[in-house]
Amino acid sequence: MLRVAVVGSGPSGVYTAQALVQQTAVPGVRVHVLDRLPCPYGLVRYGVAPDHEKIKSLQGSLRAVLEDERVSFLGDVEVGARGLTPAALLELYHAVVYCVGAARDRRLGVPGEELRGCFSATEFVSWYSAHPDSARDAFALDGPAAVVVGAGNVAVDVTRLLVRRAAELAPTDVPQGALEALAASGVRHVHMVARRGPGQAKFTTKELRELGALPETRVLVDPAELALDPAYGDPAALPAVNRRNLEVVRGWAADGGAPAPRDIRLRFFLRPVEILGADGRVTAVRFERTEPDGEGGVRGTGRYEEIAAGLVLRAVGYRGRALPGLPFDPARGTVPHEEGRVLRDGAVSPGEYVAGWIKRGPTGVIGTNRHCAKETVEALLADAPALARRRVAADPGARLRELGHTPVPWTGWLAIERAEAALGRSLGRERVKIPDWEGLRAAAREA
Ligand SMILES: Cc1cc2nc3c(=O)[nH]c(=O)nc-3n(C[C@H](O)[C@H](O)[C@H](O)COP(=O)(O)OP(=O)(O)OC[C@H]3O[C@@H](n4cnc5c(N)ncnc54)[C@H](O)[C@@H]3O)c2cc1C
Repeated sequence: MLRVAVVGSGPSGVYTAQALVQQTAVPGVRVHVLDRLPCPYGLVRYGVAPDHEKIKSLQGSLRAVLEDERVSFLGDVEVGARGLTPAALLELYHAVVYCVGAARDRRLGVPGEELRGCFSATEFVSWYSAHPDSARDAFALDGPAAVVVGAGNVAVDVTRLLVRRAAELAPTDVPQGALEALAASGVRHVHMVARRGPGQAKFTTKELRELGALPETRVLVDPAELALDPAYGDPAALPAVNRRNLEVVRGWAADGGAPAPRDIRLRFFLRPVEILGADGRVTAVRFERTEPDGEGGVRGTGRYEEIAAGLVLRAVGYRGRALPGLPFDPARGTVPHEEGRVLRDGAVSPGEYVAGWIKRGPTGVIGTNRHCAKETVEALLADAPALARRRVAADPGARLRELGHTPVPWTGWLAIERAEAALGRSLGRERVKIPDWEGLRAAAREA
């Protein structure tokens, strides 16, 4: 038997487990999927926006893998905590695959980021997704204006959530506190601001178009900013996704629609240079106008503009976090690897593998992690004869408990699901997420 630990139960971890048990070349593979949270699914539960029901429903297919009899879920087990170092883990399993994601946010690196009212999109997403690490319960939603810095799908997600009405979110599983705060929000104007033009923006067209379909909201684009885009005259030169984005944005520039209670302004060619404040609170963002530099980037023009806002969310990308005891490339924010085999000082480290965002960086859609996991599992299976000869502890679960970990088993997660359904019923909603560690652990114990 080959015993494999997969660290992380997000898409890459679950796809790794799936590829390991569905193959036939190496029989007798058993997989333990460990997660530091009592709940599975990683960013599918704690990142994908609550109003994206179709993508959220991917949890159903991930669930089927975790319910396979050859796979065991061990929640509330953090690798790196309580003596469970990568070296200790390697004594328990023939192979370990790290699928720990890359959910640390990037900073803007401008003065004023510490002001009250300036947050990372990650903090905002964690709050409305009920991540138990979310430390915030207030987001300067007294309005009327917010600035979202960024031009990717996460920027689009948080922009959309800021203008959604409570009635649209109540049928989702957003935690009650976030629902009530968003219902009371005074934010009416959201400025989504990008350093470059729509021809280079990273959002996907489907996400972008959704902004135009939001009830009681219109989308405004300044035609003069579009005209700055090098592709404006000749979109044919762009990759298909950017060409489609440009078409959508041009449509809004030509016709912003009728006045509506809320608006989203898409702004381009502006880079933040300072967050301005008074009495410790954000009051505006100062931007420098940029222009194309002819090489696909932008350069500053020395002209400045301020946008008044009480809330600033930065959505300028993610990067991985070093896991003590595991090699880490700080420049790329990933674990160095060769086809998924972890490299220590440039040499393959027997038994250690990596998949997902921590392997390739925060790129692609959920399905990209499936291919990524497959490559890693192919490498692992090719190494299987040598891995099976490694001496490992007879009962990893017992060793975890000796170290002070109390894994939440799959039945514990099912109990959390039941508790969330009961909470929903008590609030007249379908299902409501439990937002804190204590509540999740107490619910899991009911199993
Ligand atoms: C806000 C946001 C919205 C997104 N929306 C979409 C979308 O709509 N559609 C789409 O296709 N993609 C979307 N994505 C991208 C998608 O979520 C990622 O591609 C995917 O989640 C990456 O999978 P992963 O398994 O590598 O990492 P994650 O999903 O981050 O999973 C990592 C897991 O590892 C666990 N972990 C971390 N450290 C440890 C440790 N030390 N010990 C044990 N466990 C640990 C974490 O708790 C987590 O469960 C979104 C991403 C973000 C950030």
